[in-house]
Amino acid sequence: MAKITAVVSGKGGVGKSTVSAGLGAALASRGERVLLLDCDAGLRCLDALLGVTEQLVFDASDVINGTCTPQQAVYPCASCPGLSMVAAPLEAELQPAAVRMLTERYRNSFDWIILDAPAGIEAGFSAAVAPASSAWVVVTPDPVSVRSGGIVRQALAKQEISDCRLLVNRFSADRFVRIGSFEDMDELIDRTGVQLLGVIPEDSAIPMMAARGVPILTRGACSQAFRRVASRLCGERIPLPPPERI
Ligand code: ADP
Ligand code: MG
Repeated sequence: MAKITAVVSGKGGVGKSTVSAGLGAALASRGERVLLLDCDAGLRCLDALLGVTEQLVFDASDVINGTCTPQQAVYPCASCPGLSMVAAPLEAELQPAAVRMLTERYRNSFDWIILDAPAGIEAGFSAAVAPASSAWVVVTPDPVSVRSGGIVRQALAKQEISDCRLLVNRFSADRFVRIGSFEDMDELIDRTGVQLLGVIPEDSAIPMMAARGVPILTRGACSQAFRRVASRLCGERIPLPPPERI
């Protein structure tokens, strides 16, 4: 039975889809069966990050409307065995009941279902988190994003999701110190009120991977960070490296 997790943020563009793909790929490379469900109706992008856009025929709305079987809407990622995705509808919005129904259809076939939410705490957020039992809150290390992380935590609490973990994306030790908005990482974490799951570095390989439709590399700072987080998710005790080595 799959663990169902929503990837959420207050601000857009902080890396929810990147983190969904990267962590999904890192979990899959450990032998976990991972389904990414793109819940960003109208603005889907996981198909591009996994390199399956050319093959797409069916999306989540076809499963919801019964115009295809659940299996027909699942597209495996060629570069990452064990990682698959279902695309968000391009036009129709996703409703909470529909996302619940989708996860019910898939939960016996996967170990993880990762719901890539749209930004914010509006209707799309409510739909994406409806079937989730946990959430990963993504922030970048800037004050506006961090503040919105705290707001998202409150919205998750209203939906009765208390198992929230924080992912700090696009971290760069130089920039963190230079901008000086936070005394240290502990202060950033305290401002969100969410327990840290991991830190993903700013890495120029990420836009290149996105352009090539490859969700994870074998080497490089971001790939190592995704693998560390995946190990923690699988119950291993992996300490956070010092900031300059993230
Ligand atoms: P969201 O899903 O939250 O809107 P995306 O995952 O689409 O955000 O990421 C927004 C942009 O930031 C993309 O161009 C992506 O390649 C870039 N990006 C995300 N994370 C990183 C990172 N750690 N290092 C460099 N670029 C990143
Ligand atoms: Mg996104």
